[in-house]
Amino acid sequence: MTMPAVPTKLYARQYAELWPELGPALERAFLHEDPVLGEPVAAFERAFASHTGTAHAVGVNSGTDALLLTLRALGIGPGDEVITAANTFIATVTAIVAAGARPVLVEPDPESMTIDPQRVADAIGPRTRAVIPVHLYGRTCAMAALDAVVRGTRIAMVEDAAQAHGARDLRGRRAGALGRAGAFSFHPSKNLGAFGDAGAVTTDDPYLDAKLRMLRNLGKRGKYEVRALAPNSKLDTIQAVVLAVKLRHLDAWNRRRRAFADLYRRRLLGVGDLRVPDPGPGEHVFHLFVVRTPQRDELARFLRARGIQTGLHYPVPPHPQPLDVDLGYRPGDLPVTERLASEVLSLPISHELAEDEIEQVCVAVEAFFG
Ligand SMILES: *Cc1c(COP(=O)(O)O)cnc(C)c1O
Repeated sequence: MTMPAVPTKLYARQYAELWPELGPALERAFLHEDPVLGEPVAAFERAFASHTGTAHAVGVNSGTDALLLTLRALGIGPGDEVITAANTFIATVTAIVAAGARPVLVEPDPESMTIDPQRVADAIGPRTRAVIPVHLYGRTCAMAALDAVVRGTRIAMVEDAAQAHGARDLRGRRAGALGRAGAFSFHPSKNLGAFGDAGAVTTDDPYLDAKLRMLRNLGKRGKYEVRALAPNSKLDTIQAVVLAVKLRHLDAWNRRRRAFADLYRRRLLGVGDLRVPDPGPGEHVFHLFVVRTPQRDELARFLRARGIQTGLHYPVPPHPQPLDVDLGYRPGDLPVTERLASEVLSLPISHELAEDEIEQVCVAVEAFFG
């Protein structure tokens, strides 16, 4: 396999740079620490809660489990409905169904591409128990409007912050501190990524914190007492060590992503029929830089021929997927989501890239539109 000129994923570049810090940290953990829910996991949980601005963080083994266990901890299950974004990554829907609840899919605002608060209001019914706004691509949702929609109800706000580590809303609060709980993924591709799967839930609620610690560990409380039949979803110690080292760099890495997004915007605004994302209010952390054009497939092919890798997030939304369960939606039911799916294209953005690599992408996009 030859390396593309501008790749979207650069794990080796990242680890080569981090190794002087990471190597000794891993060695210390292997030689001195408890491998199961020991001090490295607790230390990362404290650091991540502090970074997010919440009282607690509970490490789990994936973002999907972070969502699932949070729903279970809130007592959400069969007969309940959970509202989420129709254009989210499949895992949000997977978690809702795994909890036993019914996902109610709501269209995004076509500009911000995050869930539309007015449509959330319209989707609320007597069975609605939670809303999961997804801070898609690294941009926080319209939380003030969403909070207004659920104010005075018992509906829980559970953030899917899997793409938004470090992002801030317009009041400066971080993603993960904007609802009852925030679910994070540390999949290697995310802004804060482990070397494998990992996740966490952030919350200010001590009851949720304690319940999540029980649910992530086979329902155990103490050594022999079991309070629930729950999965084994502990945060792995090696991943906690990797994450603790990387967390120290997250803010600088996110600043670099924002600078690249600015560069893209300066160069690509007004080019052809391309629609370029705006940073919105607060601090967008550009997990992805998602442009839109009806000529998406042609543009992707043109860039690939020039060695520029792009991504699709996502070409098929959850509802028309050929799933083993019927979500109750048909193609055509969610036209905004379906239109976005046909037009979105993720340009390379990552802190490991160099400015001239972003320039190279801009030159190629300009060449495509002539
Ligand atoms: C990555 C992601 C998840 C799932 O996280 P995993 O760690 O892969 O289980 C959930 N929601 C969104 C929006 C994601 O991007």
